[in-house]
Amino acid sequence: MQSSGKLHLGNLVGALSNWVRLQDRYDCYYFVADWHALTTGYADPTSIKESTEDLVINFLAAGLDPEKCTIFIQSRVIEHAELNLLLSMITPLGWLERVPTYKEKQEELKDKDLSTYGFLGYPLLQTADIIIYRAKYVPVGIDQVPHLEISREIARRFNYLYKEIFPEPEALLTEFPKVVGVDGRKMSKSYDNAVYLSDSPEEVEQKIRTMVTDPARVKRTDTGNPELSPVYQLHRIFSSKEEQEYVAKGCLTAGIGCVECKKILIKNVFRVMDPIWKRRDELFQNPTLLHDIVEKGTERAKKVAEETMQLVRKAMGLY
Ligand code: SF4
Repeated sequence: MQSSGKLHLGNLVGALSNWVRLQDRYDCYYFVADWHALTTGYADPTSIKESTEDLVINFLAAGLDPEKCTIFIQSRVIEHAELNLLLSMITPLGWLERVPTYKEKQEELKDKDLSTYGFLGYPLLQTADIIIYRAKYVPVGIDQVPHLEISREIARRFNYLYKEIFPEPEALLTEFPKVVGVDGRKMSKSYDNAVYLSDSPEEVEQKIRTMVTDPARVKRTDTGNPELSPVYQLHRIFSSKEEQEYVAKGCLTAGIGCVECKKILIKNVFRVMDPIWKRRDELFQNPTLLHDIVEKGTERAKKVAEETMQLVRKAMGLY
């Protein structure tokens, strides 16, 4: 996960909760991609260090267990950069240029100059990140599949040219529920509509209390359509089936007001956030523990990465 800002509920529901489940089934490697953050944020790297720390805290607060999975920071395992360099020798430019997100992101972030070698090479570095652990699976959403496809092609090309070292990584596709932001659009940092894991209970409450509702419900006595209300979409993720039915019926008949409806949602979001807030506090109060977890994870990751690099160097005729 890239360290380019704070994590929000969408990231929690979409990725982190899934990662927590996977740590019981697989030997998982989870890292903060601080080099990746530089591909778009190179001009102002001031927040990267802080974001990196916050991300590790959120990994742990969300339930990743350093005894079950390996947690580390990308730039601390320098072997990723070495493999990136060696793979760059064999990767045709056209493969990188045709990754759909290359052009899309340039369009999206027009205020940034992304005509850089690092930005074009993003999928290549991502490939190195994956295959250096000779990973079999990568947990991704459907939009990440083209990135993984290029990783598979590069692994195949390496194996064909030199030696069968890398498995072709497969997508471990997960259906992520779409999480809307407080304005009804997709929850995103760039829309400024997110509920962050680092928000205080007061901030979360305030954000949900002022959320957009079905515009038809102006007065308390107006009936509404829950399907048109972003609040209801969040109920679908955070509330029980009974509560969803209660809210939907109350909205359609004006049996409940938006204030009561939002109160139920706030209670349920708090139930998810409470253990996260608690763990975040504990970690902030114990920086040594955080440091030790990262050190241990980095050491573990480095050992496996170095083993792979020895095979790679030998296969490529290097000393
Ligand atoms: S009652 Fe709930 S679902 Fe209906 S419009 Fe109000 S906030 Fe939205």
